[in-house]
Amino acid sequence: MSRFAEILRKKDFVITFELVPGRSTRTRHFRAIMRFAEEVAEAGLFDALSITDNAGGHPALAPEALGRELKRLGHEPIIHFSCKDKNRNVIESDLLDLDREGLRTLLVVTGDYPRYGYRGRAKPVFDLDSVQLLRLISEMRKGYVLPPEVPGGGVTLPPVPFFPGCVVNPFKWTEAETLLQYWKLLKKIRAGASFVITQVGFSARKYQELLFFLQEEGLSGFPALAGILVMDQRLARILYRGIVPGITVPEGLYRRLMGLSEEEARKEALERAARLMAVCQGLGYRGVHLCGAPLEKEAVHQLLVLYEEYRPHWREFLPEFAEVPEKAYFLYRKDPRTGLNLPERKPLSPSRSRNLLYFFSRIAHKLFFTRKGPLARPLRFLAHRLSGSSWEPLFTRLEYGIKKVLYDCQECGDCSLPHLAFLCTQSQCAKYLLNGPCGGSRDRWCEVYPGRRRCVFVRIYERLSPEERPQVFLKELSPRNWNLFRTSSWLNFYLGRTTLSPKKVKDL
Ligand code: SF4
Repeated sequence: MSRFAEILRKKDFVITFELVPGRSTRTRHFRAIMRFAEEVAEAGLFDALSITDNAGGHPALAPEALGRELKRLGHEPIIHFSCKDKNRNVIESDLLDLDREGLRTLLVVTGDYPRYGYRGRAKPVFDLDSVQLLRLISEMRKGYVLPPEVPGGGVTLPPVPFFPGCVVNPFKWTEAETLLQYWKLLKKIRAGASFVITQVGFSARKYQELLFFLQEEGLSGFPALAGILVMDQRLARILYRGIVPGITVPEGLYRRLMGLSEEEARKEALERAARLMAVCQGLGYRGVHLCGAPLEKEAVHQLLVLYEEYRPHWREFLPEFAEVPEKAYFLYRKDPRTGLNLPERKPLSPSRSRNLLYFFSRIAHKLFFTRKGPLARPLRFLAHRLSGSSWEPLFTRLEYGIKKVLYDCQECGDCSLPHLAFLCTQSQCAKYLLNGPCGGSRDRWCEVYPGRRRCVFVRIYERLSPEERPQVFLKELSPRNWNLFRTSSWLNFYLGRTTLSPKKVKDL
């Protein structure tokens, strides 16, 4: 069993700390990380140190390199493992490497969209999304069965005892983004996540909302750690500009912080983080994950002392964490007494923004792509006749001509349109995700194109009825099969080659 699994099992409240390596190991920043790691290891201040994976979409030292060093110092490293820069084969190689090094506690994340890199922006890969990556890790944990058609296939590889966690962003202020985060979290848990760490936030009611949701889903014992930011003036200035996806700094907090001297603001940052730690423990979190904290042993020691002092008084601090944007959405009704939530769920909004194309697509799909419909048998016969014939390329071009105009089709050959309200995430999601949004959308806008393009998953949500939404968003979609790229998805459907939703194809 991973040491972190053991820690979570034995301790009532765990405290982890996030390290962000930079672009060189020969800088003051890296030396500060190593000195800090040595000092806190000696003092036993944290249950685990986590290491980000190219945070903010910038290249940086690989987390496994720092992980190895931390392990030598006696730390339990949590390796952030993102999908942004690696295809599924490199992912598997990296997982084997981590296993070899004994670095088996992972924090699986979609990853920030790549920004700067050598001579420009790096190519965003996102071959797997976080749900699919967790599924791969789960299969490796059980012993991955190599498919019979691959070289050396048909055998089961020895199990690898990874301990994967995942992330969730409860700090969303619209109905669609909130529900989409929580449904995706359920998929991650079903795919094998063993713990969750939240995005950092500033609203006690939102922190509590996630716990209510887990409880409602029968997951009250699932280990949830609250992400807590130690925010000084420098960090506040960066985050207030809204350039870090998924984090919103409340206006009032920002103004208060900027009204202080630099020294006062540093002190206030530690005290506020300690109060929020106390609040999160009071709400029922199994631990906290500290981000942005100074790499100074004395400062973090002081933070932990303050937290112990504040713990019994957590209710008194609730008003300090009540500031939310105007018209902020919450899944549960407000408790006027505490300012937190009552366990009463609000009804979901009806569908909207359904257009003619949506209705046309639904009818066409029902008519031509239903296994048991009257046209199924003749179309299957036709597909077998067309496949491999000289007419196939022409048919394929015709299909993609139509779908390019209607859906901005990317010619996957493994069509996800019917699974996602007839919107194509391969052309309209900057990260090509299939199993729900990343954590970076803001006010329904895509994190990569703020103010220019709506997050495609929000658009899907808005098209669906309240009954359809959980059905669509809780269905796990497999990764795209690149063997089918530029082949006819219509033929593939009838020939049983599509893989996004294998169950459906089997009973074709
Ligand atoms: S479309 Fe949505 S899920 Fe895709 S990158 Fe943008 S915000 Fe993230």
